[in-house]
Amino acid sequence: MTHRTKLAAGNWKMNGVWSGLSEVTSLMQAHPAPVCEVLLCPPATLLSRMSDMTVDSAIKTGGQDCHADKSGAHTGDISATMLSDAGAEYVILGHSERRADHGESDDDVRAKSRVAIENGLKVIVCVGETLGEREAANTLDIIGGQLAGSIPDIVTGENLVVAYEPIWAIGTGKIPTLGQIGEVHDFIRTTLEKRFGAGVGRSVRILYGGSVKPGNASEIFAVSNVDGALVGGAALKAEDFSPIIKALETSS
Ligand code: PEP
Repeated sequence: MTHRTKLAAGNWKMNGVWSGLSEVTSLMQAHPAPVCEVLLCPPATLLSRMSDMTVDSAIKTGGQDCHADKSGAHTGDISATMLSDAGAEYVILGHSERRADHGESDDDVRAKSRVAIENGLKVIVCVGETLGEREAANTLDIIGGQLAGSIPDIVTGENLVVAYEPIWAIGTGKIPTLGQIGEVHDFIRTTLEKRFGAGVGRSVRILYGGSVKPGNASEIFAVSNVDGALVGGAALKAEDFSPIIKALETSS
């Protein structure tokens, strides 16, 4: 059976200033040697500082987006090279908030993913359906289309992570049933295996994201093909994120 290192990834979104980095100190103290990967993706303004703080720890850092160009006249944007330079190992791409707020299409996400990988970053490509799409029984079609459109051909089992994030579960406190999570994760695994072959398809980590909390993490991590979580609100405080990391460490 293919071994996949589990990943607990925190997305701070547009939250956090310098004083908030004390949460990272607490997290490092609580998890000196986790048996899963732990990743924090702070706002760009904190990335260098957080990367410096965590350099000798088990905590990795990542960006929340990057531009599809390597450099150039794109005021306010950030490149994959800049993320690497600031210490990032990962970048989240195609988060539903980027797709909604900035009109990012699957083509955009694929172009960004390609440039990020070419610049040595690992990408966490987000996919997920709206509530309307789920209620219309279109979830798997939507996810299939997003996977086909957003993932470039150059990925490997090491540089690609897929995050399944039902849009209606993000920040709402609602989660799909465990059966629904399992159905989508199994579908993502099969889709990756068909496109990239069994070796790559079985090595890619698939995260669940959307209202993961200390109270529901263990049951979610027990679902097949759930290799970790992408966590928003509960990643901001060490007292919330730490039990999620522990639940992942002890999951089978
Ligand atoms: C997210 O936005 O990636 C997310 C999963 O948020 P939350 O955990 O707050 O639902």
